[in-house]
Amino acid sequence: MSDSETASKLYNLYIGGAWRAGRAERYAPTYNPATGEALAQVAQADADDAHEAILAARGAFDEGPWPQMTPAERSRILLQLADALQEYEAELADLEMANAGCTWRKSHLLDIPVGLLHFRYFAELADFDMLEPVPQITFPTLSYNFVRREPIGVCGQIIPWNFPFLMAVWKIAPALAAGNTVVLKPASLTPLSALRMVEIIAETDLLPPGVLNLVTGPGDVVGQALTQSPLVDKIAFTGSTEVGREVMRQAASTVKKVTLELGGKSPNILLDDAELDIAVDGSLWAVFMHNGQACESGTRLFVPASLYDEFVARLVDRARRLVVGLPEDGMTDLGPLISRSQLERVERYIEIGLAEGAQPALLGRRPSAPELACGHFIGPTIFTDVRNDMRIAQEEIFGPVLAVIRYERLEDAIRMANDTIYGLAAGVWSADVDRAIKVAEQLRAGTVWINDYHMISAEAPFGGYKQSGIGRELGTWGLLEYTEVKHIHVALTRPRAARFWYDIVAPRLD
Ligand code: NAP
Ligand code: MG
Repeated sequence: MSDSETASKLYNLYIGGAWRAGRAERYAPTYNPATGEALAQVAQADADDAHEAILAARGAFDEGPWPQMTPAERSRILLQLADALQEYEAELADLEMANAGCTWRKSHLLDIPVGLLHFRYFAELADFDMLEPVPQITFPTLSYNFVRREPIGVCGQIIPWNFPFLMAVWKIAPALAAGNTVVLKPASLTPLSALRMVEIIAETDLLPPGVLNLVTGPGDVVGQALTQSPLVDKIAFTGSTEVGREVMRQAASTVKKVTLELGGKSPNILLDDAELDIAVDGSLWAVFMHNGQACESGTRLFVPASLYDEFVARLVDRARRLVVGLPEDGMTDLGPLISRSQLERVERYIEIGLAEGAQPALLGRRPSAPELACGHFIGPTIFTDVRNDMRIAQEEIFGPVLAVIRYERLEDAIRMANDTIYGLAAGVWSADVDRAIKVAEQLRAGTVWINDYHMISAEAPFGGYKQSGIGRELGTWGLLEYTEVKHIHVALTRPRAARFWYDIVAPRLD
């Protein structure tokens, strides 16, 4: 291990209300992707450790007070946790910047503040009405019917590296709000903000032991232990479509509830009446926010032929001025990619685009500044003359690469926009809102932003059509994904059941 790999801080596993090493006492360094510096050593759990965390969550669900508390009690505790986390906002943002390579702006103005807002939203939503009356029953006997929303049980929650804190909130907060218990597995590349979050929560001593557990370690070991265990009732996974398919297969053996938030190749459609100043910068924001390392990035930009040359020229002119630099520099627009392998993947796709005949209107290269030499930096790329059937228009690159596609008729743009295995999000730019809404209605995507992009709200559902996922996060939709539905029927008259039994069979039994 080199000097830079011996960062002193050790992070352990949080199981049953206590921090402890994994059985094998293995640790792995986690790095700063801008500098290559090791930030901490993180416990690497094995399948047995994961099983212990599952047992702790199982016990806390089956015997513990958490699922039996009233929604109001859970809400009160979660609001106290939100307050506790709020006190560490700046520290959490610094940690996110260091470990995930988010720019100062993204980590301090978006990731942590929005994450805290979303945590608080679910803390308030936790005090929800668990009982819903069923309006009318068609049986001829009189009865009162209602539905009771109950927690599902033990939730295994697996998250990616691109928005580590926000993804942890989207998993933990609604699951706990609905009365479930949790085993969270952060991404191996970016575990620190979730670890710190759980440390802060643990210090409050407000959650009964076993309600929230955190297990770090390799996805194919820890993740798989969660997806296959018969003691886990639900898997909530955010990550690539490829691993998502595997998770779904693994979870099938025990017929778990599964929600999946997967990849995307989202279309961003410029209409010929759009306000161009806003649309140019909006299209850059759509694709280059966090270097294109967002699942819902607007990576395919559809531009009408009548505006094509002018729009592309303005786009490239402004993209050229985006600053690639160290995340902590407030002027930086594009920080590092998450890893060497992600950088190489992006470069591979740039080569693929060139080989496919797309035009590099702006070609991203590794910067030469010496202070960036140890990080995974690359400039933005804009390909023009892209055809929608090219690999760079069909495959998720997860980097700062925009594919610009020309269209003649709006219906062609809509058809191409939908011609993808994905369906996570889309953008539409037009001065005519009625027209934009008509386009939005025809797009097969879970979210459509009109004259904006990346606007994800606590109150609105987020999730994918097609191979972008199953289920929704956020809003009441997100909360209800963590509930089972129980119908309770109370007979109000005698005889209580259908005539064919009480009227015909029962008299013969006298
Ligand atoms: P990934 O490789 O699919 O990994 C996601 C998580 O799954 C990680 O915690 C990973 O652990 C774990 N994992 C790996 N193999 C597993 C297995 N066999 N069984 C169970 N878990 C396993 O995704 P990523 O590279 O971290 O993140 C990028 C992807 O996430 C992109 O495709 C992006 O579109 C998607 N994403 C989607 C959304 C959304 O809401 N739709 C949001 C954010 C990101 P290790 O880290 O230990 O490998
Ligand atoms: Mg991965």
